Amino acid sequence: MEAGDFSLFYMDNFTFYSPTYFVFGKDEEINAGHYVKRFGGSKVLIHFGGGSAQKSGLLDKIRSSLKNEGIRFVELGGVKPNPRDSLVYEGINLCRKENIDFILAVGGGSVIDSAKAIAAGAVYDGDFWDYYEGKTVDKALPIGTVLTISAAGSEGSGDSVITKEKGMFKRATTGEALRPKFSILDPALTQTLPAYQTACGITDILAHLYERYLTNTKDVEVTDRMIEALMLTMIKEGPIAVADSNDYQSRANIMWAGMMAHNNSCGVGRSQDWTSHNIEHELSALYDCAHGAGLAVVMPAVFTYNLKHDVMRFAKVAVRVWGVEMDFEHPEVTALEGINALRRFLKSIGMPGNFAELGAKEEDIDELAHKCCYGDVNTGTTGGFVTLNEDDVKAIYRLML
Ligand code: NAP
Ligand code: FE
Repeated sequence: MEAGDFSLFYMDNFTFYSPTYFVFGKDEEINAGHYVKRFGGSKVLIHFGGGSAQKSGLLDKIRSSLKNEGIRFVELGGVKPNPRDSLVYEGINLCRKENIDFILAVGGGSVIDSAKAIAAGAVYDGDFWDYYEGKTVDKALPIGTVLTISAAGSEGSGDSVITKEKGMFKRATTGEALRPKFSILDPALTQTLPAYQTACGITDILAHLYERYLTNTKDVEVTDRMIEALMLTMIKEGPIAVADSNDYQSRANIMWAGMMAHNNSCGVGRSQDWTSHNIEHELSALYDCAHGAGLAVVMPAVFTYNLKHDVMRFAKVAVRVWGVEMDFEHPEVTALEGINALRRFLKSIGMPGNFAELGAKEEDIDELAHKCCYGDVNTGTTGGFVTLNEDDVKAIYRLML
């Protein structure tokens, strides 16, 4: 074994930092003010989306909760799915003008990611977009979240994804400073979601698990087993939640699984992939489709294309998660059957299966592949499991037609 090959054979060295205080359960959002105070907030920016939190009465509960604790606040709504940089700049200016010392994100991944960008930008002298071009976030205002959709896992992660409107570049950043101080997870808040959005969230959670399952580090069995357990949970509970929006127990299972899938406890000590996310981000940037819907189209294509790289890894997930019988003479058949089972599952919960169903266009493939591999920061390749160049990415987009 060469010294440099260590990580291929053994679990990598790692540090894991997950300081978020999780408050889980029905009606816990009425305690938002208590937790803001506990984590040092005295003047708060409440950040929210396009209307669902207003309509459901959630925002009124949050306002009352803050008032009850004597906490002053200002509000900034209007975060769109696939959040944009223009609102982030507005939020940064507002935080500075109002001397905000805590940001409370009330919504889904889009609202939380926008809140994280504002939190980082408000205490940075330069342009917040620097962080989305590779600079590490080491300082940010503290944030808390009240989650309304199980999907992105941003409530427990240090990640944020923002779209720069000039050129429509969707890019991510990460940093310990971005991990929420607290996150309130009330499964009942997700009961107002349309079935389609519930399914998009389920797909995103599965994608976060696959991106970590597809590793080149061998035999990190503890992590494989954790991921498999979460995937099995999603496969069992997902269709129940899609069929009956009021089923609290399935929503509770999904909500906690969604957080566990992305706080990186399932990713430490091994290489990760993120090809599907990188390829999807170009779709949601260009067509403004839901991230989960884009992933439903992208994942089977990426996995089929990358199958040859490690047939046994795909066969393992096929057998352990999708219940496919192992064909030892033809493991690629087993592996492919696992991908087909994923495809059937996604279709069964109402997700799109190809470019046309997503609203994507064949004539854009060259542009999509170029932006994915180069964008404004990338270096000509993508993927942590298999290194893919622009031609590979074009071929993957073609598999989605
Ligand atoms: P989202 O974009 O936050 O919300 C999707 C839609 O659901 C919105 O139209 C929203 O409407 C609605 N909605 C949310 N909660 C609702 C509720 N309880 N009842 C009714 N409608 C509700 O969804 P998301 O999937 O959580 O976030 C997607 C974003 O996260 C994408 O930009 C994706 O790239 C990113 N992402 C981030 C990470 C990360 O680690 N940071 C990981 C994966 C993905 P309203 O605006 O009216 O609320
Ligand atoms: Fe995602």
